[in-house]
Amino acid sequence: MTVAERTPARPRRVGVLALQGDVREHVAVLQRLGAVPVEVRSPSDVAGIEALVLPGGESTTMSMLLDSSGLSRELEEMVADGLPMLGTCAGMILLAREVVDGRPDQRSYGAIDLAVRRNGFGRQVASFETDLDVKGLDEPMHAVFIRAPLVERTGVGVEVLAEVDLPGEQGRRPVVCAEGGVIVSSFHPELAGDGRLHEQLLFNVEGD
Ligand code: GLN
Repeated sequence: MTVAERTPARPRRVGVLALQGDVREHVAVLQRLGAVPVEVRSPSDVAGIEALVLPGGESTTMSMLLDSSGLSRELEEMVADGLPMLGTCAGMILLAREVVDGRPDQRSYGAIDLAVRRNGFGRQVASFETDLDVKGLDEPMHAVFIRAPLVERTGVGVEVLAEVDLPGEQGRRPVVCAEGGVIVSSFHPELAGDGRLHEQLLFNVEGD
């Protein structure tokens, strides 16, 4: 399917969780795709959004700010309503069902049935860049990994869209996953200015 065929009849309002992290990069990608990004900092910002992006940054800080801003409940509701979401890196951690090596008070919202280990790539490969084949995309995606979450378990309903090979026993691990309208990546496509997962997110918004 071409981009033109996918372009919705009217611009989508897409929330970007803007408590911390690389909000600006996601906003820029969404603008380029013709969507209307809405920076979400408090519960009043979520009205009318049709999808939500959770950026990379620091999941423990975002978790804390979600609680103090009152957005935690909103996020729970959006997950329960099946709102399409894209989470990158720290955003992936927030959307996972289970977080290993997180802070004890850190919350995750179970939008996708994954267990992820915070900073799980190990010292040698904590941060790296690579080109990845992603299912459904014609060209490889340049992936920037920064102290990324490592997928430890995928639920039966989870589709693995891309994997990386890691040294030793860690083996091949999922780095892009989807379930229903939720897409997550362990890396930051937004830092490379790649909008193809965002495009898929817009495609996951139903109706016009
Ligand atoms: N290590 C960070 C965390 O635990 C995620 C890093 C990132 O988003 N680049 O939230």
